[in-house]
Amino acid sequence: MRRYFCPDYFFATYREADAAFLAAQNIRYLILDIDNTLAPYEQPEPDEHILAWFSALGEAGIKAAFVSNNRRERVELFNRQIGIPMYPKGKKPLRRFMRRAMADLGATAEQTAIMGDQVFTDVWAGKRMKIRTILVPPIKDKRDIFTRFKRLLEKPVLRYYKKHCQGEK
Ligand SMILES: [Mg+2]
Repeated sequence: MRRYFCPDYFFATYREADAAFLAAQNIRYLILDIDNTLAPYEQPEPDEHILAWFSALGEAGIKAAFVSNNRRERVELFNRQIGIPMYPKGKKPLRRFMRRAMADLGATAEQTAIMGDQVFTDVWAGKRMKIRTILVPPIKDKRDIFTRFKRLLEKPVLRYYKKHCQGEK
């Protein structure tokens, strides 16, 4: 049961899951969380690193979609320059919008992964869909006193991973 929430891959940042890595793992389809995975809540649009990362995915023939639990306005604005299929209010870990995203991408479970920062949202959604899961620690805006407090919440994710997941792959 423990292993149910263990991601297949754990990276310090989304950037480590680059096109070369994904292609080598035969991941052709990627379901993506936005908030605290690619950018903090406070960042409404992608930065140059995110755009470059998406360009590289596109060049490698990897298709991506956003399934975000955030509201439509947030997801639309973030996706404006990227232009991939998007499913706001995605209700992860429920499967409905995950299924829809995969169907729209023409994705098979074997060649799909989800990347996100939340074990009980993103990883669980991926496990339920029987796709691979990539966990990253939540990105926070360090300037903000509240997020400095929330940074404490990252630690349980790391601790969970170290305790339950390492060495099991
Ligand atoms: Mg998130």
